[in-house]
Amino acid sequence: MSRLANIVWTRLTGLMPGELNRSELGWLITPRGHFPLLEQRRATMIVNRVRLFAFLFAVLTPIWAIIDYVFFSFPLWFSLAALRLLACGAFALIVFRYRPSGSLSNAYHAMALLFAIPTLFYVASHQILSGHPLEGFSAAVAAGYAFLPFVLLAGLAIFPLTLVESIVVASPILLAQALSGVLNWNMMDWPSFAGAFWLLALITGVSNLAGMSQLAFMIALVRQAIRDPLTGVFSRRSGEETLELQFTIAKRSMAPLSIAFIDLDHFKSVNDTFGHEAGDSVLKLAAATISNHLRRGDMLVRWGGEEFVLILPNTDIVQARIAMMRLRHSGFGFRPDEQPVTASIGISALEEGIEDWRQLIEIADQRMYFAKTHGRNQVCDRDESASVDSDSAALELQQSNA
Ligand code: GH3
Ligand code: MG
Ligand code: MG
Repeated sequence: MSRLANIVWTRLTGLMPGELNRSELGWLITPRGHFPLLEQRRATMIVNRVRLFAFLFAVLTPIWAIIDYVFFSFPLWFSLAALRLLACGAFALIVFRYRPSGSLSNAYHAMALLFAIPTLFYVASHQILSGHPLEGFSAAVAAGYAFLPFVLLAGLAIFPLTLVESIVVASPILLAQALSGVLNWNMMDWPSFAGAFWLLALITGVSNLAGMSQLAFMIALVRQAIRDPLTGVFSRRSGEETLELQFTIAKRSMAPLSIAFIDLDHFKSVNDTFGHEAGDSVLKLAAATISNHLRRGDMLVRWGGEEFVLILPNTDIVQARIAMMRLRHSGFGFRPDEQPVTASIGISALEEGIEDWRQLIEIADQRMYFAKTHGRNQVCDRDESASVDSDSAALELQQSNA
């Protein structure tokens, strides 16, 4: 029985987007657990598409008034044109008001507004049209208004949404449609209404699938773009984006933020003595060893060849120093000749007067250089002073205590 269940489960998961691994599949269902860079990229994409959509609607909505003018008589086309102008203004407002900022709540607002405007337009136009008996071509044009919910729900397909988000956006439109059926039930052609509603539900389902597969593709792309292929830690570019993000968050919430600049010692000699491939293995092992020491929320970035930057959110300089001393003592793996790999580390922390994450990097880099020129294999966390954690410093401390 459990074998059968297992087979069914494997077959079912085999149907899911192949570019994702198991833990990422859950991200297609709800936005909970999306990592910050994914969330940011997704928010940016949603806002950009909302603006594109709003721009198209802002242009097309008033143009259609020409058709109304040809086929409808005066009071009707005039009230519809007024409604169209109102909608056009609201769409234009979206285009000007929302800019991609990387914030998901901003993206949600923009989307809610984008879908609310045509829904209201649909309800209002329905009211206006139902007061005017129409025939022939005019009736056909009027029937076109009923297609708006279809356009909206099909349009949902251009957004990289999770299942839950799609449902939340689609429900009010489906509900409004069902409600309009219930309210007009005595003059309603039931079979055609049920058929239309069924079609609407099908379109919603297909749009959901399209949105989720866009999201799957996006998750795979972001994952590839943000990782360094050799070591699997974050690449320089995504590291810079994360620094920008963490710096802004720390500044705004007055939370501590530290970074460590880690440069492996005498790494060139590994390449020179054992070859580039062996050098690569040493680099991989060093990255893995550092990664094993990280807390949740810390981020390791491969900054350049044998240089790493460690981003430590919610960590002040004292905690950062303790963490780096511990890291140095546990080591950075071994060379092919079994010699331990060591590193020189510079630490900096957010303090008054620092206005840019680049300054944090610069300071940490200078301190790393100080550690290098004062004997390597040590941690430095202040300017122009003895390193706080080196074997010779520890020895001095012991001697002075004795
Ligand atoms: P120091 O203690 O002063 O830091 O000496 P070092 O030899 O570590 O520093 P240096 O900057 O002179 O050399 C860094 C070397 O790292 C040079 C380069 O060939 C090597 N390197 C950079 N990227 C890679 C890589 O991806 N794979 C390998 N195998 N080596 C790399
Ligand atoms: Mg270097
Ligand atoms: Mg080096």
